[in-house]
Amino acid sequence: MEIEKILARAIKYTGGLHLLDRYWGKNRLTVLAHHRITDPKARDFVGFVSNVSATPEAFEEQIDWVSKHFNVIDLATLHAHIVDEKALPERALLITFDDGYMDNYTNALPVLKKYGLPAVIFIVTGSMDNPSPLWWDICSESFRQTTKTQATLPLIGEQIIATAKLKYSVERQMIGALKRVAEHEKQANVEDLQRVLDVTLPNTQMFFGWEQVQELVANGIACQPHTVTHPILTRIPEDEMRRQVADSRQQVIERSGQEVLAFAYPNGSTADYSLSAMQALSDSGYDMAFTLVSGPMPVKDIRQHPYQIKRVYLSRRDSMAIFQMKVLGVPALLERGKYL
Ligand SMILES: [Zn+2]
Repeated sequence: MEIEKILARAIKYTGGLHLLDRYWGKNRLTVLAHHRITDPKARDFVGFVSNVSATPEAFEEQIDWVSKHFNVIDLATLHAHIVDEKALPERALLITFDDGYMDNYTNALPVLKKYGLPAVIFIVTGSMDNPSPLWWDICSESFRQTTKTQATLPLIGEQIIATAKLKYSVERQMIGALKRVAEHEKQANVEDLQRVLDVTLPNTQMFFGWEQVQELVANGIACQPHTVTHPILTRIPEDEMRRQVADSRQQVIERSGQEVLAFAYPNGSTADYSLSAMQALSDSGYDMAFTLVSGPMPVKDIRQHPYQIKRVYLSRRDSMAIFQMKVLGVPALLERGKYL
């Protein structure tokens, strides 16, 4: 039997919540990191499948469970803890989404409204004005739509893409290679890829806009900056990094009237942010930032590391049992399904 199944049973029959309470302590913050909430098997699905965190049905099941076992807080409560030392409730949990995909508005908002729960969406401010796909979705969609069976691709050379399985594996290789190149080279490589694979993508509205931001905010869903164009901060020059951090903050303030309290680092692993990025955030007036480094966080650590808040990365491949174990903080499962 797979280790995950054994653990799932152990959690179910031994009262895992209490076991994990003992391991992490009740005074902990768990931050869920979702991306897209949609069905990747739907005929009209567009984009990078790995960015799907849950179907709308699975998401509702997750939220139902979370609402029963955790104290879901809003961003302002966490902010008040960081700046004013206000206490957090036991088993505090914050629901977050990265990137600002349209399906967060169409599929996640109704569920959050139904349960009356707050959340945070980290938006790429440039995509609020221009909702066309970003590079990883273009890359993924190019493989899905091409009729080629082999091709010489930018960065990774000659590849056979004759079956869906081969396409998927080459696509992941391509996205991995693109993540490693300097930001200014990405766009040219993605354009080359589309040309080599001979595809023209339809104009799809992938992201919601400022109008939806207003409605989300009115329903308790804070929309906070995730840069202007989603570069990995450690792959761009310092002045550009500072612009991405400051301009996205200014845009959120001007276009939505919200207070900006928090930032989320694109890609979010330890290699994707730095001391100078944290300094830039602090200089621009941010009080906290979220990574994709895994785990719940003991409350005592939050105020010491407000620019390195950990989250639990969620994947569409997580069954409900795996989801529960990740959210409870079973260490062996926290990295599961990460596309980083
Ligand atoms: Zn992102």
